Amino acid sequence: MNLSDLTLDRDGLIAAIECTDPAFNEALRQEAYRVKVEHIGTNVYLRGLIEISNICAKNCLYCGIRSGNTACQRYELSEEEVLASAKRAALQRYGSVVIQGGERTDSAFIKKITRLVKAIKALETKSDGGRPLGITLSLGEQPREVYQEWFDAGAHRYLLRIESSNPDLYRKIHPQDARHSYDRRIQALQDLKEMGWQAGTGAMIGLPYQTAGDMADDLLFYKQFDAPMIGMGPYNPNDETPLTLSGAAYPPDDVRLQLGLKMIALLRLLMPDINIASATALEVLHPRGRELGILAGANIIMPNVTPEEQMVKYNLYDRKTLLRDCPNPDEAHKGENHICKNCVFPFCTLGDNLKNGKITVGFGQWGDSKHFQSH
Ligand code: SF4
Repeated sequence: MNLSDLTLDRDGLIAAIECTDPAFNEALRQEAYRVKVEHIGTNVYLRGLIEISNICAKNCLYCGIRSGNTACQRYELSEEEVLASAKRAALQRYGSVVIQGGERTDSAFIKKITRLVKAIKALETKSDGGRPLGITLSLGEQPREVYQEWFDAGAHRYLLRIESSNPDLYRKIHPQDARHSYDRRIQALQDLKEMGWQAGTGAMIGLPYQTAGDMADDLLFYKQFDAPMIGMGPYNPNDETPLTLSGAAYPPDDVRLQLGLKMIALLRLLMPDINIASATALEVLHPRGRELGILAGANIIMPNVTPEEQMVKYNLYDRKTLLRDCPNPDEAHKGENHICKNCVFPFCTLGDNLKNGKITVGFGQWGDSKHFQSH
């Protein structure tokens, strides 16, 4: 297949997803990078990721922190710990934080998030123009009034992944009960959009039972939902989940990596001015996975600022314990856009591409989706 043959309708997307020709895949990634630079520039924006708790009321069949996993050691960060993590993100001039955690709808947790959003907004930052940190929440399905409370407190982006836009596949990877309803997930996304959030979504790539048609439909779902930001990434298994224990087959690591990069590239061509995260799940499959994602058209990286002893317990999938972001950022990142040369940690492995200008870093900036701003 040649790049000139690519069409962005369903059939064209399926053909591209199924194409294994390395020359085509490389040309596709290069074209996506070119389109990204043309529409939104070379900047990568940083979101300090705070994994507030691995306690979850749900039981998704693919997830290591599902409520039914008795082997999971549970934790919940205190308000002081969350604020310390946010301060660290501000000090490193990340510009924004993401508060992510298991889905809980109890009022103590909801009020805690409200207090934290207000407290983070009140922190002094080193962002450009003294702006407070931008806040993304990723805390699952909530009643509309809870979304409103958090929005009014000052959060402005919300990530709620659909995980699969195919209702049949969604049902295969979730328990068959009202708590795990596909329709409820769609309704929550609609609520967020109507309320004025920058509502992002995303899906897993390379799941058991997933076809190229499903992946093409995921891309078209993002387009139809007019999502201003997408956080999608390769499926990485957790050995204690029912989906893994069922023995259902899924593509090997190298194929899931290639698919993950290809989905970023195709999405960039489909939606040139949205924000696309280069997922940590890519880094599990390749030591420079997030950098490769940026070169394939993504523009967001989420360095983890969760305290390390808790971070290793947030095991959505296996092998996450191998991941670390720069442990010495204050020393390493002194000065404008300076990245330490020798650091082996993922954020810093942007290395040569930082030096040659293919990647620049929007330190201290919110980096909101241009697509959202233009609506
Ligand atoms: S995927 Fe999310 S909602 Fe489902 S069990 Fe895991 S943390 Fe909970």
